[in-house]
Amino acid sequence: MPVSLQALSDFFKNIPSVPVQKLESELLNEKGIELYVRREDLLHPEVSGNKCRKLKYNLLAAAEQNFDTLLTFGGAFSNHIAAVAAAGKLFGFKTIGLIRGEEHFPLNPTLQKATENGIELHYLDREAYRRKNAMEFQKKLRKQFGEVYIIPEGGTNALALKGCTEIIAEIQQNFDVLCCSAGTGGTAAGLLCGLNNEKSMLVFSALKGDFLKDEIEILTQLCGGKTYRNWTLQTDYHFGGYAKTKPELFAFMQDFELQFQIPLEPVYTGKMFFGLFDLIRKNHFPAGTKILAVHTGGLQGNAGFKQEF
Ligand SMILES: *Cc1c(COP(=O)(O)O)cnc(C)c1O
Repeated sequence: MPVSLQALSDFFKNIPSVPVQKLESELLNEKGIELYVRREDLLHPEVSGNKCRKLKYNLLAAAEQNFDTLLTFGGAFSNHIAAVAAAGKLFGFKTIGLIRGEEHFPLNPTLQKATENGIELHYLDREAYRRKNAMEFQKKLRKQFGEVYIIPEGGTNALALKGCTEIIAEIQQNFDVLCCSAGTGGTAAGLLCGLNNEKSMLVFSALKGDFLKDEIEILTQLCGGKTYRNWTLQTDYHFGGYAKTKPELFAFMQDFELQFQIPLEPVYTGKMFFGLFDLIRKNHFPAGTKILAVHTGGLQGNAGFKQEF
């Protein structure tokens, strides 16, 4: 099946707007906080959440430039790899995933499903993976794989930011603080550009350390080109680092889903909401604050955490 630009643009044009859910709880009442969740996880069952936003203009660009193959990078549990494989199957792109680390059998649920969606997997050792963005390395990839449209790790590039920026224009309700989770920081940067220095944003790092502060600032240069000071990075809720978890995180996620009927995953959204409720409990927000939290999706990853649930 050849890639159809028409089918692609129709797909993105026809994605229905996502619901926004108001959460009701005793704590929120007591603290006078209004909390809304924007269900970007419901954008599409397989090309989910922010990965759908980030892929939109990349897929359109690839089709416009007549590429029939997408090549990208990710960890073994990557939501981005899952989304690229699913998008490839939906729209007729051949897909190649370069995975950090060694091959393990049986494949974990993310890679298994991606393979079923047709992605061709290769593995890069940590040294090679670190060089993945270097010009020389990409030249080598093109020699090996031919004319491929290369999407960076996590899907983060200027076109991805443009896709995330569009979320802001779609938001209908009033809010004071926007919240999102960050891995590469591309989504946060796109949202900041969309906000254009209005309101404020709280970004929850899914990684240990505070280097995302600089990364996000650099990334915003790819869209708005302004300096944004209306945001802070929250670094206290990484639970030991990227994809690291603790039983209390799963306990929180389970309570959250029972109470609000919203499923979370432990790598990004679970940590964000854990942090958000902790901050609310500690009176971080003045009474009357309206918070809008973006559920960025990623629920496919839960299949890899079955034992912990
Ligand atoms: C990838 C991902 C993120 C992080 O997005 P970045 O743009 O890389 O910061 C957040 N939430 C979910 C569910 C994701 O899959």
